[in-house]
Amino acid sequence: MSTLSSNSKPYIGRFAPSPTGELHQGSLLTAVASYLDARQADGQWLVRMEDLDPPREQAGAADSILQTLEAHGLHWDQSVVYQSQRQQAYTERLKQLQNKDLCYRCDCNRQRLKALTAYDGKCRQHQPDLSRPTATRVKLEPDCQIRFDDLFQGPQYQQLNQEVGDFVIHRKDGLFAYQFAVVVDDIDQGITHIVRGIDLMSSTARQRYLFRLFNARAPIYGHLPVIVNEHGQKLSKQTFAAPLCNRRASENIWHSLERLGLAPPLELKGADCERLLDWGVQYWQRSKVPQATQIILIDSPAVN
Ligand code: GLU
Repeated sequence: MSTLSSNSKPYIGRFAPSPTGELHQGSLLTAVASYLDARQADGQWLVRMEDLDPPREQAGAADSILQTLEAHGLHWDQSVVYQSQRQQAYTERLKQLQNKDLCYRCDCNRQRLKALTAYDGKCRQHQPDLSRPTATRVKLEPDCQIRFDDLFQGPQYQQLNQEVGDFVIHRKDGLFAYQFAVVVDDIDQGITHIVRGIDLMSSTARQRYLFRLFNARAPIYGHLPVIVNEHGQKLSKQTFAAPLCNRRASENIWHSLERLGLAPPLELKGADCERLLDWGVQYWQRSKVPQATQIILIDSPAVN
């Protein structure tokens, strides 16, 4: 793995929500942390709408997410990038890998895949019937070990062949895989730092491998604890997380700052989100972020 760091480049960070539902306390924590980290470094903070998978999306969620960010004082740089408008960029990048023989078609069925812990490379050896839908998998190099230093969680290591195997970059249903689209976007947007939830940690080695295949410098990664409900489930649409209430925006930002290990002064209680965030930018310290993988939501959920 490349040991080059992105330190020498101007900081460009991003928040990349999937519009599968509205923002909740968990997604706000990621938005706030990525914002504070970028702004403290005098960097840019971009928003990318990851509307890659229409069946999982909720009508109106993308607009509602952007309104919620604005209402919480989280103002982004540049225009919002929508993955749904980037099909051509993904197709071209896929072609690059195909031309270098770095990927192959796979028609293994779900049942076969379910029985494997890591993909065994079966379709590397045989050309599947291309008249039927196929996925495309990237070829891992032998003994593909990925190491990186996480900003919050410390040194990380994954042996991709044993833990994942050749992985899907273009799905059987014709959609580009998240792992692939996110890397193409991060390269094209010049992202230098990625601050996101720890639930995505297991994707990072795959993503770093793709950066390497494209001869691109991988960003610096920081994975934050995720907020879980009283049953230990990550807040999400599936676990019926309460959407953020914009009328309680200041309170929501206050709680996010606290969850990130900061202690805003009492005189800022009820202040505008912008003021709270300015304070946060000044006092943000990566080392204060709890090293846990989970934060339990103890406040009463903010409902509309
Ligand atoms: N769109 C992903 C999500 O909402 C985040 C992707 C990323 O930050 O890399 O979980």
